[in-house]
Amino acid sequence: MRVELWGTRGSLPAPGTETTRYGGNTSSVLVVGSEGEHILLDAGTGIRPLGLALPEDIARLDILVTHLHMDHLQGLGFFPPLFGHHVEVHIWGPPSTTMSLHRRLSRYLSPPLFPVRLRDMPRRPELHDARPYFRVGSIRVRADRICHPGGTVGYRLTDPNGSCLAYLPDHEPALGQRHFPAAREWTSGFDLARHADLLIHDAQYTDEEYPDHVGWGHTSVSQLAALASLAEARQLMPFHHDPSHDDEQLDAMTAVVAERAPSVTLLPGREGSRLELAPA
Ligand SMILES: [Zn+2]
Ligand SMILES: [Zn+2]
Repeated sequence: MRVELWGTRGSLPAPGTETTRYGGNTSSVLVVGSEGEHILLDAGTGIRPLGLALPEDIARLDILVTHLHMDHLQGLGFFPPLFGHHVEVHIWGPPSTTMSLHRRLSRYLSPPLFPVRLRDMPRRPELHDARPYFRVGSIRVRADRICHPGGTVGYRLTDPNGSCLAYLPDHEPALGQRHFPAAREWTSGFDLARHADLLIHDAQYTDEEYPDHVGWGHTSVSQLAALASLAEARQLMPFHHDPSHDDEQLDAMTAVVAERAPSVTLLPGREGSRLELAPA
């Protein structure tokens, strides 16, 4: 499968001269399956340009949303395929026992926050709860709850050629653990990340910043290195960069992860990156 990064920032877009290399758009990743499936992971601000670049002849798009925080949804109202392309759009999101996905998405996609209601969009999307196992074309998807406020899932996508991508952009696996990592079976996200050919994962905080942000739902660079090593991921891409971190600081944080997880191949999480994922 092919993986393209269209937005790697967390929490809030961060455009500007200091973020040109890692990018300022929020979480948006395109996955193109080996049989032509087009899957978007999250709908941050990067899906606006992503939507403009999609080929016009695709018949179906699937957007897999990890959770309903704004940085993962904000691009939806500006996603060109919802305004006229002749493409079928499916949106998958974490299930809730109290409110449907339509109602939760409509909190943003309705006045006064947004002028157009979800149901009035020219290309009204079909909505689905992300069950623990489902398929998009030939891609097998696993969705599992992970530790982050507000009902959040991570995704694991397996292509029929055997390549496997794990996507956990917002995740605090160390929360409540005296020593991290704990045993595999007690570590949030372990099953999703295990032996992934590529793990795209939260890397919001430096080790110095984390103690002031315990419970905010994110990972420090040392915790990221520990989790990736525990899960024996083959390649690791730090993601969901804090909006206050400029390119130089992100270079330094990437270097810390590389040093602490020497067995994992590190790929910088930069907007505009593309890679072909093949099985090991
Ligand atoms: Zn986020
Ligand atoms: Zn979040």
